[in-house]
Amino acid sequence: KAGFVSIIGKPNVGKSTLMNALIGEKLSIITPKAQTTRHRILGIVNEEDFQIVFSDTPGIIKPKYGLQDSMMTAVGGALQDADLIFFVTDINERHDENDVLEKIANTNIPLVVLINKVDNANQEQVLEKMNYWKEKLNPMHIFAISALHGYNLEGLLPLILEVI
Ligand code: GDP
Ligand code: MG
Repeated sequence: KAGFVSIIGKPNVGKSTLMNALIGEKLSIITPKAQTTRHRILGIVNEEDFQIVFSDTPGIIKPKYGLQDSMMTAVGGALQDADLIFFVTDINERHDENDVLEKIANTNIPLVVLINKVDNANQEQVLEKMNYWKEKLNPMHIFAISALHGYNLEGLLPLILEVI
């Protein structure tokens, strides 16, 4: 079994932190500064009976100059090949996420919403966001997670194995 999971979302939501947590290595660079990941970085989980490749993409933004253009092309490529999309969003930010949503809307790849940084939120906020994303995207699954603290990540690999 082999699968390809594309991790997408706005800059700074915790995509690289999540990928590193899932592959158990510090491969992707994590910084509080947006747009550190310029190209797609692949992380691989190799087990006896399966292999999962994660693609950590640059955060999705509206391109304003040439480099950003090529960054967004990398995001597009990562999406086309994916068996599953992990859409990561920060519970504390009110991003304008329409650029991301447009990209997702144009695919029929199974979608999982990961509401990250719930270590910085209360139960009420979590429920509110879960309902919000359920209504907005009707994803296959929604998880409230903390990539940094490894909270609620244990369901993700089994879910991937179900899909691939
Ligand atoms: P990316 O731009 O989406 O790849 O985001 P990064 O993985 O580089 O993370 C951006 C910032 O958010 C870093 O300072 C991380 O340490 C922080 N961060 C990531 N996940 C969490 C989390 O679950 N909780 C908190 N509090 N901070 C997080
Ligand atoms: Mg990153």
